[in-house]
Amino acid sequence: MSIASNLGFPRIGPDRELKRALEEYWAGRSSAAELASAAADIRRANWHRQAGLGIEHIPSNDFSLYDHVLDTAVMLGAVPQRFAQRTTLDDVQRYFAMARGLSDGRTTVPAMEMTKWFDTNYHYIVPELDAAQELHPASTKPIDEFEEAKALGITTRPVLLGPLSFLRLAKNHRTAQPTLAFLDAVLPVYEQLLARLHAAGAAWVQLDEPCLVLDLTSEQRRAYQSAYERLGTAGPRVLVATYFGDLGKNLATALSLPVAALHLDLVRGPGQLAPALHRIPDSMSLSLGVIDGRNVWRADLDAALARLAQAARALGGERVLVAPSCSLLHVPVDLASEPALDDELHGWLAFATQKLEEVATLTTALRDGPSTVRAQFDEARRARERRRTSPRTHDHAVRERERAITEDMLQRAPYGERRELQAEALALPLLPTTTIGSFPQTAELRRVRAAFRAGHVTRNEYDTFLRSRIQQAIRFQEDAGLDVLVHGEFERNDMVEYFGEQLTGFAFTQHGWVQSYGSRCVKPPIISGDVSRPHPMTVAWATFAQSLTSKPVKGMLTGPVTMLQWSFVRDDLPREEVCRQLALAIRDETVDLEAAGIRVIQIDEPALREGLPLRAQGWRNYLRWAVNAFRLASSGVADRTQMHTHMCYSAFDDIADMLAYLDADVLSIESARSGMELLETFARVDYQNAVGPGVYDVHSPAVPSAQAIEALLGRALEVLTPEQLWVNPDCGLKTRRWEEVQPAIRAMVTAARTVRAQHEHGTVARAAAAPTRVG
Ligand code: GLN
Ligand code: ZN
Repeated sequence: MSIASNLGFPRIGPDRELKRALEEYWAGRSSAAELASAAADIRRANWHRQAGLGIEHIPSNDFSLYDHVLDTAVMLGAVPQRFAQRTTLDDVQRYFAMARGLSDGRTTVPAMEMTKWFDTNYHYIVPELDAAQELHPASTKPIDEFEEAKALGITTRPVLLGPLSFLRLAKNHRTAQPTLAFLDAVLPVYEQLLARLHAAGAAWVQLDEPCLVLDLTSEQRRAYQSAYERLGTAGPRVLVATYFGDLGKNLATALSLPVAALHLDLVRGPGQLAPALHRIPDSMSLSLGVIDGRNVWRADLDAALARLAQAARALGGERVLVAPSCSLLHVPVDLASEPALDDELHGWLAFATQKLEEVATLTTALRDGPSTVRAQFDEARRARERRRTSPRTHDHAVRERERAITEDMLQRAPYGERRELQAEALALPLLPTTTIGSFPQTAELRRVRAAFRAGHVTRNEYDTFLRSRIQQAIRFQEDAGLDVLVHGEFERNDMVEYFGEQLTGFAFTQHGWVQSYGSRCVKPPIISGDVSRPHPMTVAWATFAQSLTSKPVKGMLTGPVTMLQWSFVRDDLPREEVCRQLALAIRDETVDLEAAGIRVIQIDEPALREGLPLRAQGWRNYLRWAVNAFRLASSGVADRTQMHTHMCYSAFDDIADMLAYLDADVLSIESARSGMELLETFARVDYQNAVGPGVYDVHSPAVPSAQAIEALLGRALEVLTPEQLWVNPDCGLKTRRWEEVQPAIRAMVTAARTVRAQHEHGTVARAAAAPTRVG
């Protein structure tokens, strides 16, 4: 008998109950007991919901108060010294201190680092390992939650992050020794926990090993083998769960692990089923991830069933588990919370709850024959057919434009020529100063926007208010002496949503929240159809700002790759093609901005790097289409129009080679925090275009001094020529307060002027001391 199973359920609650409970607790308005009870309510509701949907292997310990990787570190006793020594903290306080840092007036203890969970928009806390830590079973969370569900009459399958993935995601706090060295220390802890779970009544445990889909060395492969030789016999039957990709070269390793079952992601890696069936040992079952846990579309049940049936024929139905491709953490909880979505789109979607219905339907079909669930299959088929033939998914004009894209639409004149034309058109000084786009989103601004959205403030009143803020921002920038101004992005709540709302092909949910980190949730737009831009989106604000000043005002746009990355993207077209449609829409906007007199335009691509495939073999292809999309978006303007782009991450050595091919006139990037380390990248690739390495860390409330900024500029000039260097903050200023922004920007302008003066008067001296290139 096949088994309907799940790998993990969203933990934030259908109405973001966890977010509220956490924020109340952090603000000191509720007790730890109240937080614990709110968390228990969410878990109970999740278990009952899954049981009600007919799921037989229901996960436990998939819940977390902040992050499951942090939970794993705590479970193993891997608590960094700076938190462990705080003996006045109780366990809950220490846990949140690790996640969020501590500051009690006199001292501050920095939080542990946070980074992206594979290629998702979820962020995990990076464990810090240290040989001084004595690893031991330091928390009973997995056992407690198993018992908690058991008391409700539900026998769950506890989920743990597996030891090898845990180690690979962790960092060695003190030495450069690979974290794999800690394997012998963590394995006994896992063994004890598995034995205790078994004693508590757990027949199965799920050990998540998503790192099995990454590139592995042979040493790493051997470590999987030896680790699971121990864990496979520790008590419960072990399911090793892999997801987010094809196992590729690691398939043989995974199939040779002495465990009861292996989970394969057949959405990202459909091709691995056949070889897996061919090589699987008799003792192993397969959990098949046939329902997409990363996206919101209703499944093709026929195709899913065909795969399951293929496996059942080869193995016998009792060795097949039916599952989503990965944990459902990455999709919203329930489509039933979206009554306002139009009927057509509603019929095409499936959130976590609906996905588990699909799992249950498929399991029944596999077990008892498709005729027993004919109605569900018919309905799914009709929905797909409606989607396939809807005018929404197929706009002839958009497809025609795509077909008409030519190579020369991606070309501008060589940078050297553009540079001359732009110098003439803009007459900027050496080391021009600018900002990245947004100015503070104040409480007042948010209040007025909410009132406008709720209908308490008219469009007219709202626009008048926004114009007054733009006026203030322009006045400030002129007064501070910035060279290229911005309007401040006051009308934007979110850099993707703002554009998505004005493009065709986008839809927005009311409650479609997914966890980004801790209590922070995002509501990604859904790209459901062909994308086009019916009207100009930013021209009115940009030209209004430009009318207030004789300095150039920079038009601000979000790039195609970033819009793609931060949305749920339709699965009936290649991502590459959706990206091209977005690029055409942005290109239209640049052309209109230029025609309206805007001479500088920035296309933000903060998400360009995070779209890199998990495996190096996919990088080239991704970079090719991502960069081409940017070029398509940015090459529709005249050569005298200056095109900027902005990216905010400091580690981008791995995409350095493609920066030159992006060919933006000016590239601004985050770097204040890393002390300009990334400049070496520019030296290495001999980057010629202009660069604005951020000199003001916008993630900190601290106001930098002019001297500190001068020092950063000095370092930049060791690698870049003065003609190449721009002066700007790391990123947008929307999260900062005006009281911080004003002195910081003034310091930035002062520093730029000082350094500028040295170089303007020192042409001869400079020729003598040509910039030394590092690397
Ligand atoms: N222009 C955007 C801003 O200033 C850029 C945001 C980003 O890079 N994430 O807010
Ligand atoms: Zn940024």
